Amino acid sequence: MSSFDTPKNENAMCTEIGTSSSPPQPSLLRSCLSSACGCQIDPSEYLEYSFKYNKNGEAIIPDDDDNQQQNSQPLPRIRAPGEYYVDTYNDAPWSFSFGTGEENGIWMNSGDQAGSIMATLVWLLMTYSAVTVTLLTVTEGIPPILGMIYTYLCAMALACHAKTSLTDPGSVPRSAVPQEEQRRESPSHSMCGQCQTFKPPMSHHCRICNRCVSRMDHHCPWMNNCVGAANLKHFMLFLIYTWTCAAYSLVLFGWNYFFCADEDCTFHVLVIHLVRAMTFLCIGAFLFTSSMLMNVTYGLMTGIGTIDRLKKKATNTMSQSDEEPIPLKDVFGIAGYHTWPFPVDPVFDDYDRVMGYSMPQRLVREQQFMEQAAVKQQKANAGTVEMT
Ligand SMILES: [Zn+2]
Ligand SMILES: [Zn+2]
Repeated sequence: MSSFDTPKNENAMCTEIGTSSSPPQPSLLRSCLSSACGCQIDPSEYLEYSFKYNKNGEAIIPDDDDNQQQNSQPLPRIRAPGEYYVDTYNDAPWSFSFGTGEENGIWMNSGDQAGSIMATLVWLLMTYSAVTVTLLTVTEGIPPILGMIYTYLCAMALACHAKTSLTDPGSVPRSAVPQEEQRRESPSHSMCGQCQTFKPPMSHHCRICNRCVSRMDHHCPWMNNCVGAANLKHFMLFLIYTWTCAAYSLVLFGWNYFFCADEDCTFHVLVIHLVRAMTFLCIGAFLFTSSMLMNVTYGLMTGIGTIDRLKKKATNTMSQSDEEPIPLKDVFGIAGYHTWPFPVDPVFDDYDRVMGYSMPQRLVREQQFMEQAAVKQQKANAGTVEMT
């Protein structure tokens, strides 16, 4: 008996759900689901994980006018534009542990020493600049309000840094499956050899995080984390705040250097050395964040992340790319413009589309959600019929 003939254990079969072209067997999916959530799935409540499609590849929606008996297939996963719901359901037990594994409660790269040192350095340098500006305020070199603005910008930059470092950049879970559209378009899907998971398009395996990351841009040692679909917002905010900090202090120091003649605005002797060192720091930070901001913006406009761009440049296939620009709502979410400047998790209109994969658990929950909505709609329709 060769090793190929040995019966596969359930775990291996569950991970294979994502790779096979045909829809998984309902019974297998049910048992995988049970083991994933550690709960019992009621077969009567369970909804089939297969939909019918017409010739154009569009899911067939059961018609109200038609006989309901004939159209007994469940509602397909279709959402009207602009309609969304927040899926906060997660019945995996949360553990207080740091790491990049699926079982870790808090995402953090603790194994990479260089990254940890560089991320700490960001905090030290930012704090140093804030202390310098505060000392300038105390010694009456600049008006207090200017010092306060700088400290606020600095605090925001550090908050965004912490959020970028501690947010899961979009790691692909073991139970990830291709979305309906991907399954329809292609019978075969790529797998990650290291993670043994479905590898969504535009994702990459990060050797430092040891995970596949959705829409991975690059692994940033200054953040000690990958920059991917789920934390690109926080990363961009960090760049913008740091860029503003650097530009702000350069203007402040430049103005003092060129236009200050009287005693009112001269910097104190004790602070002047700190200011000189900070000027070099700010020039460096300004140039670096400028180039990174252009890099990320170019990536959004072309739809090609940093890694892909470098690869395509190396193989001279840059012009053949057919990627589409990434809309800002896939980075900053749809929860209103007032949430954009703050490092809060973005709400996406379609989480699966943004991440590039689906999960059986989520599909089933969404299916139930759609069914409930349909029942509500039917009741409402019946109500209006009775009224008229
Ligand atoms: Zn991987
Ligand atoms: Zn990484």
